[in-house]
Amino acid sequence: MSTCTACTHRDAGDAYLCERCATRLADRLAGLPDLYAELSLVPRVTGLAEVVTAAPAASRAPINLDVLDAVDLGGAARILEARRADIQAVRWPDRGAPASADLMAHCRWLRMELDWIAAHYPAAAELDREVYALEAQALTIVGAPPARAQRLGSCIAVTDDAGTVCGVALKRYPGEPVRCRVCRTEYRTEADLLLLQHYQPRQTA
Ligand SMILES: [Zn+2]
Ligand SMILES: [Zn+2]
Repeated sequence: MSTCTACTHRDAGDAYLCERCATRLADRLAGLPDLYAELSLVPRVTGLAEVVTAAPAASRAPINLDVLDAVDLGGAARILEARRADIQAVRWPDRGAPASADLMAHCRWLRMELDWIAAHYPAAAELDREVYALEAQALTIVGAPPARAQRLGSCIAVTDDAGTVCGVALKRYPGEPVRCRVCRTEYRTEADLLLLQHYQPRQTA
């Protein structure tokens, strides 16, 4: 019995990664190629209009241009390629280094080998940290909310004397209070959330 080398608190049995960390790592590896493909659609130096056109889907927040230039987009593939070379050297010391490939190929390979990595690769936690950092870096740029935001309907706050309802879509992020990004109304207590539910406008569809 040993502790997971990534989260350092769950039991990992004989392995280096616990089941939960291994699953999360597999999910991150699955999402990384799309995330970076989206990044490459973002023009490097542009006016706002072009950036807006290039930004996919309305669900994304505006792209953070300040950090965009600071990031080397090809770096992600190189980082995972180096990690893959290290894993292969541990597992098959007689074979040569892996052929150079793109990010998607490296992510696919790492996912395919993840069971072995979690069980036998002593630096599995380092791979975990790298993948986490690559995802976080990309999310900073595309401005996506950290993973699963929960939709809670629309804001029911009355914003003027005429009884106008704010109506902005509300989302809850893990570990944060529900707060309207427009009128700043907060829905903190259970009672607040029940009222919010109760006063949702009826679906017209
Ligand atoms: Zn763990
Ligand atoms: Zn509001």
